[in-house]
Amino acid sequence: MVEEILQQLKTGKVTALEHIQQLLKVIEQKNKKINALLYVNNNAAKEAEAVDKKIKAGKAGRLAGLGIAVKANMNVIGMPISCASRTLENYYGTYDADVIVKIKQEDGIIIGIANCDEFAAGSTGEYSAFGATDNPVAPGFVPGGSSSGSAAAVAAGMADLALGSDTGGSIRAPASFCGVIGIKPSYGRVSRYGLIDLSMSLDQIGPLSRDVFGSALAMEIIAGKSNNDPTTINMPIGKYTHFQQKKIRIGMSKSFETLTKDRKIYAVIQNAAEKIAKALHTEIVDVELDYLDLAVQTYYPLVYVEFFSSTRKFDGRKYGKKIEDACGEEVLRRILGGREISRAEYHGTYYRKALKAKKLIAIEFERAFQYVDVILAPTTPVLPHKLGAEITDPKVIYAYDAFTIPANLAGICAGVVPADTVNGIPAGLQIMAPAFKEEVLFGVMKVFEGLQHGTGRENKRR
Ligand code: GLN
Repeated sequence: MVEEILQQLKTGKVTALEHIQQLLKVIEQKNKKINALLYVNNNAAKEAEAVDKKIKAGKAGRLAGLGIAVKANMNVIGMPISCASRTLENYYGTYDADVIVKIKQEDGIIIGIANCDEFAAGSTGEYSAFGATDNPVAPGFVPGGSSSGSAAAVAAGMADLALGSDTGGSIRAPASFCGVIGIKPSYGRVSRYGLIDLSMSLDQIGPLSRDVFGSALAMEIIAGKSNNDPTTINMPIGKYTHFQQKKIRIGMSKSFETLTKDRKIYAVIQNAAEKIAKALHTEIVDVELDYLDLAVQTYYPLVYVEFFSSTRKFDGRKYGKKIEDACGEEVLRRILGGREISRAEYHGTYYRKALKAKKLIAIEFERAFQYVDVILAPTTPVLPHKLGAEITDPKVIYAYDAFTIPANLAGICAGVVPADTVNGIPAGLQIMAPAFKEEVLFGVMKVFEGLQHGTGRENKRR
């Protein structure tokens, strides 16, 4: 837990060097099997020594001594940023993404580069060109994607914090399947500068950790206006410790209930929601989200077109190989599909229609948030499948994101807290809050996390 580790580091009970060495030991023991990290920073111990000096001198930053794993689609100077693709297998970051600059300023130590689905296009972690990631909490099952390595590294104790990116659920799905906390920030909250785009109108970088404290702290640090990303705004995140528990109104929607394929998942979420409502002395309000079932169909045309356009720079001249020659099947499907949709766009056939549907979904959420402060839902409609299961229909994979995509389309913030396990596999509660209301989101996440402690969760028996 980040909160305890920081305390130990601050009081000198553990040095940064000892802590980082401990993480490296876990990586050494577990990474071969889990394949969460594609690269380990062999300078980490040295960096920790420098941080120890700063701690002693009372000059250390807020992340001093923590080990942070970074998804392979964000630039970190000198590290291999392959996007888990053969296309960029020899590419090394030539600069630090905005989020990395901020983490380094606060003395966070980049422990390694995390595996993911190729170019963040996937939901299971199986589309990495460098092998799938295993689920450390439910071995033999997919860990969720595309930020598979980020979630698995945190869950396995290889990193204190990880950064992932979430375009349609890529932080939240793996957080749910690996039993950790994950945040998809409001669109515009965190600079995307240095992130290799999947879909620039939807992508957000966000944290994963084992405690809400860790993710909230990371958000405080990485959020904010950047001149490098014109979509960011200058609005600091309020302290979630000041969160007013009393006034919270909780929403749930029948649409999520009917679309949840696995009834056991919904039972876990319903139970979690009731616990929260009881703790906050509030009722659960039913909110209407009639367009929810359009989310997946709306999302993919947008992603295909934007991805197609952003991959035009990978033509084999400047960076790595020509993408069409080097990439896997899913990435190629999106490039070819995106090209076709762009051609048909003269008639406004798909992309413009998808933009209209996106707007409808955003309006629907705005309306719902007039009546409630947060909306609770499952993170995924189904549990993860077994690693290596033959799934030939991409629609089956796309369906994993049916409950996470809406938050991206609406531009709101959302977070996942482990709720319970179903058949031994973690299932996370998804909490959604209005755009730029992260402090409300963290407040409710914190309340739920508190309720989970000492409640004899199935999880704890592992
Ligand atoms: N699974 C979704 C996709 O394949 C989401 C990916 C993401 O959020 N990066 O596009």
